[in-house]
Amino acid sequence: MAVPQRRISKTRKRLRRTHFKLEASGLVTCPNCGAMIKSHHVCPKCGYYAGKAQYLNGKLVTKETEKKVENTGKKSTKKAAAKKAENK
Ligand SMILES: [Zn+2]
Repeated sequence: MAVPQRRISKTRKRLRRTHFKLEASGLVTCPNCGAMIKSHHVCPKCGYYAGKAQYLNGKLVTKETEKKVENTGKKSTKKAAAKKAENK
């Protein structure tokens, strides 16, 4: 069995280990909310990926639920507009 010819000194060992450190993995800013997120992952803060809401209120947005989301979005905007009108 191969055996090291000399013992590695404390200094050499410690100098080698100065390079053993954690680095922040490729984080990017979310284009929707600006939070720091992993690239190629759905944003955990706002649920957006590829410019679309993938998760809304913790539920996965599929083709079936997408219509509901659009409908609710329109309703909410109408309600918001009505509230603004009432305030004025
Ligand atoms: Zn986001």
